[in-house]
Amino acid sequence: MNEADVLIIGAGPSGAVASALLTAAGRSVIVLEKQQFPRFSIGESLLPHCMRFIEMAGMMQPLVDAGYQHKNGAVFVRNGQFNSFDFRDKVSPGWGTTYQVVRADFDHLLAREAERLGADIRYRQEILECEFVRDRVRLLAQTADGERLRYDGRFLLDASGFGRVLPRLLKLDRPSQFPVRRSINTHVEDRITHPDYDRNKILIGVHPEQHDVWYWLIPFSGGRSSIGVVARDSFYQGLPTDPLTRIRGLIEQEPTFALLLKDAVYDTQVREIAGYAADVSSLWGPGFALLGNAGEFLDPVFSSGVTIAMKSASLAVAAVDRQLDGEAVDWEADYAKPLKRGVDTFRAFVETWYDGRFQDIVFYKRQQPEVKRMIAAILAGYAWDEANPYVEEPMRRLEVLAKVCRAQAE
Ligand code: FAD
Repeated sequence: MNEADVLIIGAGPSGAVASALLTAAGRSVIVLEKQQFPRFSIGESLLPHCMRFIEMAGMMQPLVDAGYQHKNGAVFVRNGQFNSFDFRDKVSPGWGTTYQVVRADFDHLLAREAERLGADIRYRQEILECEFVRDRVRLLAQTADGERLRYDGRFLLDASGFGRVLPRLLKLDRPSQFPVRRSINTHVEDRITHPDYDRNKILIGVHPEQHDVWYWLIPFSGGRSSIGVVARDSFYQGLPTDPLTRIRGLIEQEPTFALLLKDAVYDTQVREIAGYAADVSSLWGPGFALLGNAGEFLDPVFSSGVTIAMKSASLAVAAVDRQLDGEAVDWEADYAKPLKRGVDTFRAFVETWYDGRFQDIVFYKRQQPEVKRMIAAILAGYAWDEANPYVEEPMRRLEVLAKVCRAQAE
């Protein structure tokens, strides 16, 4: 039997950060990861707020040294109208810049750092079963060679992302309130030479006719980019089935993307990911907590996934550490509620993006500077900063602001 204070399922961003923070707190940790790293993952545009968690985990210097593409904001385009948000010009204190990363590389870097800091990561071990016996948790893992191994710990963090191990095993899965959407995406050698193009910002484009269909252009260092399209599943009906033809055809439909990517070399597998929005009935239970995507995943539009994953790791580790010291922890009050605060902020932004209200806010040119700095703070990931009125009452504020922007734009 392999034993540790805390067992973690998955070595993605939430698992790596949680394991490093626990190790720093003097806890023994075993991370069980199904795949061998480096491995592909989606989610390449980071938000400045996640830099705080990377810093807390003691992983900043290697990240800075890695030479990733700098990111300081977001540009939005719809029917030839542009608006730009600079994340350094925001109301919340904290980092205003970050990176755009090839996730295979970035996740490997975080995992290697977690190991260097003392976490024990075991690759190619897939969790099959989980059992809670009195105050212990037992896991059954299967190695890539078919060997079965047992693990025993005092607490379990599920950081298995879209693998959703505990939601499946403990029947915690709950359908997301968002419709099923599908993303088609790939990496290209972008060959972008347009003088107005700002590589330091993610570019988000809106489909000229279907405003709930959107595009991303995430530049990496080295002249490469990630490109992707997100739409309701039904939007793809009737499009070419060959993935390369399909994505090239979609890029052609958005004039700015078509122009910027006119010389792009499509040299990488095109992938489709569908039905990723997910929810759970509870983010914790006796002896376990769900981190990152193993809990709730909303939507990719504001690149919030890695930041939420790392925030969940930092909150959960503080609570686990106290529990292992024998303190009584109220997981709802100390973990689920504070985590949901920021998730609910993003939820309001996502909902109003797709119904068009937040798009009208984004493309409104005469925004009051202070309001723009509040919006920029959320787009930079500071969705938990209660001093920001858009965190305090996200939906009401967005509804009011959208009305004002729409009225004044007429
Ligand atoms: P993951 O990164 O998914 O890591 C989970 C790990 O668990 C994996 O390594 C997996 O192999 C392992 N695992 C799974 N099952 C098992 C098992 N049974 N046993 C052992 N190990 C297991 N986020 C952003 O921040 N920026 C973006 O630009 C962005 N774009 C996105 C675009 C799309 C189309 C989608 C769908 C998502 C996007 N996201 C983005 C979200 C982002 O991908 C995730 O939120 C983020 O990766 C979550 O991190 P995690 O640590 O929770 O899980």
